[in-house]
Amino acid sequence: MKRQIVCFCEHSFTTDVPDSVDLGKEPEVEQAIISGEFLNIRCPNCGKVLKPEFPVLIEDPQAENSIFFIPELDRGQYFRGTLAYSLREANRVAIGYEELVEKFLLKRSNLDDRVMEIVKYYLLSRIMEEDSGDKEVRILFSKAEGESAWFNVLGLKENEVGILKVPMETVHKVESQLEEKKHQEPFSDILKTPYVSINNLLTEGPD
Ligand SMILES: [Zn+2]
Repeated sequence: MKRQIVCFCEHSFTTDVPDSVDLGKEPEVEQAIISGEFLNIRCPNCGKVLKPEFPVLIEDPQAENSIFFIPELDRGQYFRGTLAYSLREANRVAIGYEELVEKFLLKRSNLDDRVMEIVKYYLLSRIMEEDSGDKEVRILFSKAEGESAWFNVLGLKENEVGILKVPMETVHKVESQLEEKKHQEPFSDILKTPYVSINNLLTEGPD
């Protein structure tokens, strides 16, 4: 799909941006997403690498999953149901590049995103108990290592990324309770497809 891009150098150009990717045919895209190179576009005028976000459907036949990627700037519109484009049929939605990366980091670690969003909910509740206020805290899974799941916590302290570890044992315990939690609040809201996320608990996305 042809997209119009305006660089910081004010050069305006059109470029081809995929509106869907099939990882069955282009498996290398998965690594590109994780390493942050997906959707990178080089300005033909000044050479700067730009990272614009456009809606893309990512199909992953290997995982029997499809993810519709929505740009961070469209988060509010997604929550209000006023997206300027139609929501592509997918069993997951990721909003903003970080969430897209997280989906694939979880896949790489063989972890269920539903379970991890519940774990994130517990982490967030704990953080809010200790340090309430109207901070916009975000928690993102980073890796599974040494019998623990690692999370990055953003927005708690300015310009600082906090790190939290959760024992895998806890993750497995939540996993074993998934079926019953599905029907309990607030988990039923968190697990609402296609946007499986603790961000569903926010009354409204940021404008
Ligand atoms: Zn430029």
